[in-house]
Amino acid sequence: MANVVPFVNEPVLNAADPDVRRRFAEALARAEGRFGEAIPLVVGGERVTTAKQGRSLNPCAPEQVVCTFSQAGEADVQRAVAAAERAFATWRWVAWEERAAVLLRAAEILRRRRYDFDALLTLEAGKTFAEAEAEMAEAIDFCDFYAREALRWGGPQPLTPLRGEMNELHYIPLGPGVVIPPWNFPLAILGGMAAAAIVAGNTVVLKPSSDTVRIGWAFFEALEEAGVPPGVVSFVPGPGAVAGEAAARAAAVRFISFTGSKAVGLRLAQVAAEVQPGQRGVKRVILEMGGKDFIVVDESADLDAAAAAVVASAFGFQGQKCSACSRAIVHARVYDEVLERVTAGTKALRIGPAKDLEVNVAAVINESAMKSILGYVEVGRGEGRVAAGGARAAAAGSGWFVEPTVIEGVDPRARIACEEIFGPVLAVLRADTFERSLEMANDTEYGLTGSFFGRDRARVETAKKALHAGNLYVNRKCTGALVGVHPFGGFDMSGTDSKAGGRDYLGLFTQAKLVSEKLG
Ligand code: NAD
Repeated sequence: MANVVPFVNEPVLNAADPDVRRRFAEALARAEGRFGEAIPLVVGGERVTTAKQGRSLNPCAPEQVVCTFSQAGEADVQRAVAAAERAFATWRWVAWEERAAVLLRAAEILRRRRYDFDALLTLEAGKTFAEAEAEMAEAIDFCDFYAREALRWGGPQPLTPLRGEMNELHYIPLGPGVVIPPWNFPLAILGGMAAAAIVAGNTVVLKPSSDTVRIGWAFFEALEEAGVPPGVVSFVPGPGAVAGEAAARAAAVRFISFTGSKAVGLRLAQVAAEVQPGQRGVKRVILEMGGKDFIVVDESADLDAAAAAVVASAFGFQGQKCSACSRAIVHARVYDEVLERVTAGTKALRIGPAKDLEVNVAAVINESAMKSILGYVEVGRGEGRVAAGGARAAAAGSGWFVEPTVIEGVDPRARIACEEIFGPVLAVLRADTFERSLEMANDTEYGLTGSFFGRDRARVETAKKALHAGNLYVNRKCTGALVGVHPFGGFDMSGTDSKAGGRDYLGLFTQAKLVSEKLG
């Protein structure tokens, strides 16, 4: 493809700019004006309305129905898989450059509708403007980055030359696949997984999370407008255990690309391993799962910077990021000081509806999440001392608001120090020595993100080697990975070691074919 400029990360909009605030307010009003809209399934390009309907609610004001949506049953999913098989017969032969151009156009459409996406992220997922913008930029980046990556994967591959032969290696697609994203990055993760799969020549059955169907739909529409042909992506919302699992089980499916919880990820690995009648090939399973991420604060750290990073990483988007800091592991010599600053920073956070630009912490995604988080807070009361928060924030509104909560003096083997809570709950652990702080950080079945704060050079170097996390940061927060800059994904029970937004990622959606022709 001629003259594609090199990839650069999309800048985020600044909410201090009055023009940005005005345009965001207008987009919120537009989105609110469309509340209750009915979203269909799209199977092989055809809009389908099913009898079984679902609803997606505004977490900050659950009396507001963001959309209603058709729910796919097993038969719908099977038709979507059949459509993906048919579409694969042509899409696989479309040139890499042409498929890349589709993603470049999709990125432009996202830019053009940026405020509308921001508004949906705010109203359906409970993201503050800053969080919505960060996700928006990431979604654009995924399209832009994978488009350029496609040109590299689709181009000539280096081989050792052999006289008398002409040898070529081509990356070819796998076939029809299933993409199952979570609700917490309903645009960037859904879009990133789908974009990577299709740009590599695969076709996709896309099952969005039931909590964020409206945003998934907006992305699907952008793909259609960008020129993705019918059947290349089918859109099938529905209950995970029905629609998601049926899609994953289908004989024709060649890969399952999943981001979500450990429990569901492991279940899908099991489903993939059960060979179905007529199945050809082993299903490739790409799992990106949970985390129990840490920030280690050494005695040599800049304590203000460390405390600010802990608060931002623990409570940004209500702690509902797989990368969120849920364990602060603090050297005993600075424990009291760090705790005081983290507690003060936490208490200063403003709780309220996500659309309010002054708010830092909005509602969690749904009622069952709120109950589960508050259940963990109760467990935590028996495992440490509640230093901040600890209750539902009912005064913030009718939504599912939970106070940002700090529980200190927690044993490394306590439940709240080991299990993923996925909400605004931080466990603070005391480490007697530097070495012990590293051991505590690594004492988890997960291995997604972590951060080390310290200024002692020897300790920084030791920490860089010893800390076992897919994304390890030093002297900065453990959230906020940038596409291309910080390829993202975890070890151990955090997933199958993929790196979204990295140079290896498209390889997960391809297989290499070697062609060797004897000359003469
Ligand atoms: P979840 O596992 O409950 O759901 C994820 C998706 O799987 C949803 O679309 C859901 O409908 C579907 N699903 C549920 N049961 C299924 C089944 N039996 N078969 C097929 N599909 C099924 O996770 P969630 O609550 O949506 O997301 C939060 C989780 O995602 C957290 O654990 C978080 O750490 C993780 N996450 C990980 C990453 C990462 O990059 N590693 C990124 C974001 C979120």
